[in-house]
Amino acid sequence: MEAWRRGLTDPVSAFPVAKAGPAHIATLKTFDPPLETLEGRRFRGAERRGKRLLFPTEDGELVLLVHLMTAGRLKSLRAGEPAPKTPAFQLEFQGGAKLVLTENAKKKRAGVWLLTPDAAAAELAHLGPEALGLDAEALGEILRSESRRLHALLRDQRLVAGVGRAWANEILHAAMLSPYALSADLADPDVDRLAAAMDSELRRGLALRESGASDERTYRVHRKLGRPCHVCGTPIAQVDFEEHTIFYCPDCQTGGRVLKDRRLSRLLR
Ligand SMILES: [Zn+2]
Repeated sequence: MEAWRRGLTDPVSAFPVAKAGPAHIATLKTFDPPLETLEGRRFRGAERRGKRLLFPTEDGELVLLVHLMTAGRLKSLRAGEPAPKTPAFQLEFQGGAKLVLTENAKKKRAGVWLLTPDAAAAELAHLGPEALGLDAEALGEILRSESRRLHALLRDQRLVAGVGRAWANEILHAAMLSPYALSADLADPDVDRLAAAMDSELRRGLALRESGASDERTYRVHRKLGRPCHVCGTPIAQVDFEEHTIFYCPDCQTGGRVLKDRRLSRLLR
């Protein structure tokens, strides 16, 4: 995404927008302000927040926000370059260059929003979908949207709301996945297992909390350093990652591998 952002900054800011649209009905998520209000305005460049690309106008009045999801592709075309017949979204600049979004998928998931700067800030401040009840398909989208260590991704409230570090430990153990595994590398069966573990662990936690159970009884991995794993009996290990301590079973989750410390203080040195 960062490479795309860099590649798009110059072409989108070179000329004002001559024609905004067409846009697929499933792709354009906003109707007020209308898309045509972009016409005659020039973008300041391209910015990025996670996998979202932002194109603020030079006058500071509008922000075009693009989320490509898995299958969306954003291309800048020079004047006269062949363009797709049915783009999901298109902008034509004065002089004939184009910005084209295509999505080669049955279900259109990529989105374009035309927002005021305040509405854009609110949109970006939004939490991700609730972890409880998130199905494997939706979770898969989230996992592939950013390549991150699973433990960090699960805790990121923008992506998934409702999982803290303790439950990230419990969920990853139940899913038999390494806390350091990269989210975008997961195979489909891993995603299915992670979705099932997220649901069953959070439900288990909810039920125990409702019955008034202590942390000690609720958690099976979190803060259980040296205690036998409830599945295989291997002593639970811990590792410092960024500003958190992760607990995991080296047998169930990392194939016997001991994870190395990745403390933020050490990384910054
Ligand atoms: Zn184990």
